Amino acid sequence: MKGLYLIRYGEISLKGENRPFFEKTLINNIKKVLRDRFLQVFKTHGRVFIEAEGDEDDILKDLSRVFGIVSISPVVETGLTLEELQKAGLKAIKDYGTYEGKTFKVETRRPNKSFPYTSPEISRLVGAHILKNTRNLTVDINNPDILINVEVREKGYVYCKMIDGPRGLPIGVSGKAFLMLSGGIDSPVAGWMVMKRGVEIECVYYHSFPFTSDRAREKVRDLCKILASYCNEIILHTVHFTDVLKELQKKTPESYLTILMRRMMVRITEKIAETRKGMGIITGESIGQVASQTLYSLNATNSVADLPIFRPLIGFDKEEIIQKAIQIGTYDVSIRPYEDCCTVFVPRHPKTRPILERVEAVESGLDIDRLTTIALKNIETEKIMSN
Ligand code: ATP
Ligand code: MG
Repeated sequence: MKGLYLIRYGEISLKGENRPFFEKTLINNIKKVLRDRFLQVFKTHGRVFIEAEGDEDDILKDLSRVFGIVSISPVVETGLTLEELQKAGLKAIKDYGTYEGKTFKVETRRPNKSFPYTSPEISRLVGAHILKNTRNLTVDINNPDILINVEVREKGYVYCKMIDGPRGLPIGVSGKAFLMLSGGIDSPVAGWMVMKRGVEIECVYYHSFPFTSDRAREKVRDLCKILASYCNEIILHTVHFTDVLKELQKKTPESYLTILMRRMMVRITEKIAETRKGMGIITGESIGQVASQTLYSLNATNSVADLPIFRPLIGFDKEEIIQKAIQIGTYDVSIRPYEDCCTVFVPRHPKTRPILERVEAVESGLDIDRLTTIALKNIETEKIMSN
């Protein structure tokens, strides 16, 4: 079924000279998500209309994941006679879903002044037609449940459904960053929050087979698939980390393992980012959430990277992160039980205050460059598409 969708976008319009670039990126992202259901795009009066073919609910669901979109309305397009506007109004309310028992109001805008009725007249006449042809629907002009919008332009446009978009900025307008994706609850949420600011992300996962099972890796792939549903596809780099881990375990005191492991991960992620135009690293850390996320640890982690490390969850508590994970759809996958290497190797008494000088002293017995090279030689890169 062919349909027309009005796309409202917010922050883009604030961005002055960048506006054409932002709009172009938004439209491209919409095309990517809709794939062969996309038919065409119209831009009029600072608004974007998309024509698409396919199930309306599916299209709305997919569009509601495109960053930059504030809201979407399926629109009934119609000719410019009163009868056609009335018919379109009735169709819009019937497409709305369950309208029985609700109140409504018609609101009209008429930029096309050649149309022979005024806006209040149109609202009244369309409203009367709807009332006559429906049951159990009443008018409330102050606080209606359903607002039916009629627009009289070069054609007539009628709509009453409004589906929320995720807001934010279109992915691709703000550069690229590398998400350290673990399979837990936090890092996918962290990635999503940065994506929302228009940043393209690639994911890096540290896999330590056989300490972490292949099912843990599958879980990370599934998380990528969910993140990809917000941008169509995501690149995942799986770093085979077992050799590095074993050497850390063998040559350093157990209590330093977590921080040393994190520092290695950041170093390697930065190297990958450098070759692929990455401008930042993202993690799911938040202050004090676990023993290894004190300011001491965060400092000791930061000091190995020149790229900025973004931690969008820094001030969130666990419950807030869980709510967000549920909302964006990653939670159910994240709570699958397969262990992450950080969990498997968690020291019995981790350093909660890993002072940088001490960490560096412990690390001085290791050949960091060699370990980094080993890991960099052991990376698999794949593209993960949304369903
Ligand atoms: P998450 O829920 O994201 O796993 P967490 O609360 O378990 O976070 P930690 O285990 O301390 O926290 O990890 C902190 C951050 O380090 C993670 O949010 C993630 O960004 C990164 N990280 C941890 N383990 C891995 C891994 N195996 N691969 C990639 N990144 C990792
Ligand atoms: Mg974790």
